[in-house]
Amino acid sequence: MKNIFKLILIIVIIIGTYIYVFKEGGIFIFKNTDDKITDIQESDNDIITVFAKGMKASNYIKTITNKPYTLTKPNDKYEKIIYDFEEHLHYNDIEKLINNLNKSDATLVTVIGNSVDKRSIYSIEVGHGNKTILFDAGIHAAEVAGPLYIMKYLIDLVNDYENNMDEAINIINNYKIVMIPCINPDGYEATLFGAKNINNKNLYIYKNSEDILFETYKANANGIDLNRNFPSQHGGLYYTSNVLNETVSKKPSLGYFDYYPGAKLGSEPETRAVMYWLEKHLANSYGYISLHSAGRVIYSGKPNLADSFNEKSLKLAEIVSQTNDYIAFDKNEEEVGFGNDGTSTDYASELISGFKFSSETGRLSSSSYLSPKVKEDINAGVITLETLPEYTFDLEIIKDEYYYKELARVFTKIIKSG
Ligand SMILES: [Zn+2]
Repeated sequence: MKNIFKLILIIVIIIGTYIYVFKEGGIFIFKNTDDKITDIQESDNDIITVFAKGMKASNYIKTITNKPYTLTKPNDKYEKIIYDFEEHLHYNDIEKLINNLNKSDATLVTVIGNSVDKRSIYSIEVGHGNKTILFDAGIHAAEVAGPLYIMKYLIDLVNDYENNMDEAINIINNYKIVMIPCINPDGYEATLFGAKNINNKNLYIYKNSEDILFETYKANANGIDLNRNFPSQHGGLYYTSNVLNETVSKKPSLGYFDYYPGAKLGSEPETRAVMYWLEKHLANSYGYISLHSAGRVIYSGKPNLADSFNEKSLKLAEIVSQTNDYIAFDKNEEEVGFGNDGTSTDYASELISGFKFSSETGRLSSSSYLSPKVKEDINAGVITLETLPEYTFDLEIIKDEYYYKELARVFTKIIKSG
């Protein structure tokens, strides 16, 4: 009889520990995340074919409650370094520039995660205002212009602030600009300077460097396209009635426009760093701008989300198209359910629209694939901003784009729209 009680006690302890550690996110998590998770899954679950698994709820909670570290302020004075696209920057050159930016009282620099090859991924907050706007770049390896544009803009803005220029002081007093200059530092470094710069020689990108076409390589060091790896509602699946988008790959990328989402969404540390970052800042922000570098177009809106969200997104896109001649596309240019989803902007758009993470699908979820319940009355927009006509490493072309397409003015106008 005694043994039965002992057995029951042990079972209760095991189940209790399991629920506590795995379902609730673990003993080190003090933040209440109940409102972030649902167990509801889509009612029209039978219309889809899944080709990438979802994320575990415990892993999701761990991701969004990540504890990044804030770089301590160096004691030495801010240096007014000028960068004008004279040379390509190694990722550790970018890190040195970030360290210098951190010397200004206008900035706050945090490390939000590490890449597969253990490079730090930075978020730079500039400004003391409470109107928050988010920018990121460099999710795609060979799109090296975006990180340079963000660094150029930040350096000039902080230099102007340190020089007491009115415009910069105004921006820094009224806004909070939060920027990730480079989401995929391993890919950035390897496409520009060669796979020899990858430290871990066992990684996919190093081992396959002979076969990889780096000029168009988008993926991270594991051959995974981070911009398909987000657990958005439609990430890693397609409607069974559709044909799977021809760009989607089911094996790691060799750089021939083969987009591999990975076997499991949210599998990559770079993806999880951005998920954490969006979780932290998106709810208070009026916009999220993701920089890419092919086509001189702006994608805005998602056909399955609310009108107010799509209008707000199109407004951001039009700020760009009215400043230079980039073409602003609206929600009608976006397709959903062809296997091509799982981008950072899909994910962010759905968070803004009130989607929660479903422990059943391992993705953001909102009751139905075809007609999701969405939050109306939204005050934040999301755009994908594609600079440059096509992929290039040519610094002359990259520099001309920045000046002739007035990208600094575009960024400032977007910031001031909040
Ligand atoms: Zn891209």
